[in-house]
Amino acid sequence: MNDESKASLLDSTQVVIKEALTKLGYSNEMFELLKEPLRMLTVRIPVRMDDGSVKVFTGYRAQHCDAVGPTKGGVRFHPEVNAEEVTALSIWMSLKCGIVDLPYGGGKGGIVCDPREMSFAEVERLSRGYVRAISQLVGPTKDIPAPDVFTNSQIMGWMMDEYSRIREFDSPGFITGKPLVLGGSHGRETATARGVVHCIEEAAKRKNIDLKGAKVVVQGFGNAGSFLAKFMHDAGAIVIGISDAYGALYKEEGLDIEYLLDRRDSFGTVTKLFKNTITNQELLELPCDILVPAAISNQITVDNVHDIKAKVVVEAANGPTTLEATKILTERGILLVPDVLASSGGVTVSYFEWVQNNLGYYWPEEEVASKLHKKMVSSFDEVYNTAQTHKVDMRLAAYMVGVRKMAEASRFRGWV
Ligand code: GLU
Repeated sequence: MNDESKASLLDSTQVVIKEALTKLGYSNEMFELLKEPLRMLTVRIPVRMDDGSVKVFTGYRAQHCDAVGPTKGGVRFHPEVNAEEVTALSIWMSLKCGIVDLPYGGGKGGIVCDPREMSFAEVERLSRGYVRAISQLVGPTKDIPAPDVFTNSQIMGWMMDEYSRIREFDSPGFITGKPLVLGGSHGRETATARGVVHCIEEAAKRKNIDLKGAKVVVQGFGNAGSFLAKFMHDAGAIVIGISDAYGALYKEEGLDIEYLLDRRDSFGTVTKLFKNTITNQELLELPCDILVPAAISNQITVDNVHDIKAKVVVEAANGPTTLEATKILTERGILLVPDVLASSGGVTVSYFEWVQNNLGYYWPEEEVASKLHKKMVSSFDEVYNTAQTHKVDMRLAAYMVGVRKMAEASRFRGWV
């Protein structure tokens, strides 16, 4: 691993925030305000395990900036969760909300745990314990959690129930990504992937790529990657490569996506079933039109950026391309759609869910889909045009769009 790949997500986020604020003419004081969350809560959650023992878990909730409105963002359950990662991810949520123009700031939560090794009942007790621990800090007009890595609609259902019991009234607007019967929204489960598809469509138009017959490679087969592979396949693209944490599959004429979806487990694992696999690195270097890193961070770095053959790279994961590699891709004429834009479909439909909860009036699927499409197209346009006008790469342009409203709101509130 080179030095640059070791730079933390927080370091690189702060570098680009500073650059964006400087380009927009803001002072260093604004950077001092926005470089870290306004609040960060660490909690310890005792959970009775199925064998009768008690295990104490550590959890976090970060609220980056509430100048625009309540904070919003997912809760991840993962053994590698830590305070710095949650901090960086809360800033990213602020940027995403700014880019798609939602009346929110960013928040993020996480619990250090491995749900793959816990029973259903243990995960429920942990989820409820987390809500009890953070209940003073969150709420429908304060900070609204949602699903993230290894959390799902069932977990959101338990959390909503726990919060409603504490407050003694039904509070569907406390959390998004809920099951439909508990006030969830149509289209929420597939929203992140749909948002990525809309970005791919817009990027393909700019690069004169016909999506029918276009060769697509998707790294990662979790919620975003698997739905995305399906949607691209349905749109007539040829998905020639996919991967999971254990390896990658490649077929020049296109993979049988329906079959792979059928065989994948709930944590996105599928390649273990096959003998002829390639490595994740080989996958990234395949000749293709569109490459979608939808797995983990630091995948495209100075070490392999010159071997990337795609015409368009759309980041569905958090931080898959380093800052140095972003510059090189841009110089090579490869269009990069950055994570904070490409992965904002999830929070956009979460916003629609919250609006429906507040109204008590629910929209049909087509209405959600067309509202999401509109938001993604106009956000893509704004970022693309900002990049052209200011002659900057798409990542810096996205940060400029994302940070502007937050900075303006902070100024009007008289904070800076
Ligand atoms: N966890 C998702 C994200 O990082 C969704 C957040 C939300 O829906 O609030 O964008």
